[in-house]
Amino acid sequence: MSTKHAISFDVEEYYQVANLRLNYPKQDWDEIPSRLSIGMEHILSALKKHNARATFFFLGWIAERHPDWVKRCLDAGHEVASHGYDHDFLWDLGPEGVVSDLERTEAALEAAGAPRPRGFRASTFTLTRKTFWAMDILAERGYTYDSSVHPVRHPTYGIADFEPGISVVKTEAGSLVEFPVSTRKIFGRNLPVGGGGYFRLYPGALIRNAVADLDRRGKPACIYLHPWEFDPEQPRAKTSASKAFRHYVGLRKTLPRLEALLSKFEFVGLEESLIASGDLEPR
Ligand SMILES: [Zn+2]
Repeated sequence: MSTKHAISFDVEEYYQVANLRLNYPKQDWDEIPSRLSIGMEHILSALKKHNARATFFFLGWIAERHPDWVKRCLDAGHEVASHGYDHDFLWDLGPEGVVSDLERTEAALEAAGAPRPRGFRASTFTLTRKTFWAMDILAERGYTYDSSVHPVRHPTYGIADFEPGISVVKTEAGSLVEFPVSTRKIFGRNLPVGGGGYFRLYPGALIRNAVADLDRRGKPACIYLHPWEFDPEQPRAKTSASKAFRHYVGLRKTLPRLEALLSKFEFVGLEESLIASGDLEPR
C-alpha cells in the first residue's frame, strides 16, 4: 500500500500575506478585488485530474465572503479546516484573542456548511515556543491535529529543535497530533521543502526527492501551498527586493510542480493522511 501523503492549501488572498502587510492594510481588504477564484480553479482541477484529496485551511474572513468556495471544496470531497479568522499572528492575539479568533472562524465555516474543523494552521507559523499555550486552547476546543509548527531556524517563526515528523503534543485538555509541513535536512540544517517560496525556488527534483525519500520510509509528507501562488498575473506590490522575491519568485512553476507531485505520489488531506498512518483515530 502506498503512503498517503498530505497536501494542503491555506485559503487567503494575495493581499493578506504577512509579507505584504504594509502594502495592504486590513481596513482596505474589502475594497481590493478578489483574485481567489483564479488559484482555486487551478487547484481544484489539478486535484480532480489526479484523483487527489486535500485539506483547505480557510481564513474565517474568506469563508464569510466566499462560502461558495467552502462548499465547492466539500462537494469535491476535500477537508475544510481552520486558518484562523483574518491572519493575525498568535502572539499579537494572546490567549483570549486566540479563543475568539477560533470561535469566529468556526462559526464562519459552519455557516458555510462545513463540519466543525478538526485541524488548525496558524497564520504564518506563529505557533512557536512563546505561543505554545495555543495547543491547550486547540485541544480544549476539540481540535485533533495542528499543522502550525515549522521545525526550522527562522528569525520570526519556527521551533528549530522540534520533531520534524508527526508527533503527539500533550496538553492539560488532552493530546493532539502535530503534523508539521515537511522539511529536509540539508548540510545539517532542517530546510523547508513543503511549500512557500522554497517550493518555487528550489529545483523541482529536490522537492520530489524529499517526498520520495519519505515515501520509501513509509512516512507521509506534508505539503502546503496558497491559491495566490497559482496566479502569476496578480498585481505587484511595491515592497523591498527581498519581500518581492519571496512572494513573486517562480509563480509560473507552482502548477506544473503540483501536477508533477500529484502524478507521482498519492495525496490526501491531513486528517485522512493521519488516520491512514495510524496517528489519528477515525471520526
Ligand atoms: Zn496564511
